[in-house]
Amino acid sequence: MKKLAAGNWKMNGSVATLTEVATLLKIQSTPICCEMLLCPPATLLSQMAAMAVGTALKIGGQNCHTKGSGAHTGDISATMLQDAGATYVIVGHSERRAEHGETDTLVRAKAIAAQSAGLVPIVCIGETGPERDAGATLDVIGTQLHGSIPDGATAATLVVAYEPVWAIGTDHTPTVEQIAEVHAFIRTRLTARLGTEAADVRILYGGSVKPSNATKIFAIPHVNGALVGGASLKAADFAAIVTALSAA
Ligand code: PEP
Repeated sequence: MKKLAAGNWKMNGSVATLTEVATLLKIQSTPICCEMLLCPPATLLSQMAAMAVGTALKIGGQNCHTKGSGAHTGDISATMLQDAGATYVIVGHSERRAEHGETDTLVRAKAIAAQSAGLVPIVCIGETGPERDAGATLDVIGTQLHGSIPDGATAATLVVAYEPVWAIGTDHTPTVEQIAEVHAFIRTRLTARLGTEAADVRILYGGSVKPSNATKIFAIPHVNGALVGGASLKAADFAAIVTALSAA
């Protein structure tokens, strides 16, 4: 299994900030043992993909429509992302679930559309703070996982990201035990659903991953990489996280 360090720029970045990508490529110029991915806003995808040619950097989208084309003003299809140079796409990020009412059923349809276009969907799941406080974490994760991932997925066609909503952008990371419990639970559920293939499906942790906590998080069983928001905007920070994963 090749672990994955994925950066999500969210609604951040301009042509000027592509200098961070150039810096990242300069820092991470030697071969690494993991995959390195950046998911910029759609406006920067083609330019970033051009910069990534011949390097270890891969490019992904942050969302896609369920359809390949048509009358869907303002939306972007998985096929279009692939055409622009993407090989991955994030689906079901908690910000899209919360701000756009995305359901598990819709997320699953997006993941299937991504797979059909030759992209690997990174399917995000995670409990809110109140859900964790109520002791419902595993119930929520089980339900989201069941509803959001496509049948017949393989290690080559699916990545799952566990992102506790209360840890995103807050500097509050779960304890090692909390992350370990959820990742082991996800692996068990994936095995029940996908069989032996599940052993190699990458399960990323996301939520306030920083250079200072990356090594500790990457040592947790069944943590096969990270989905990184804020720290992926700074080349030095993201490079340090990639280095930590590569060494894990
Ligand atoms: C995210 O947006 O997926 C994320 C994990 O953000 P951050 O790293 O900033 O918490």
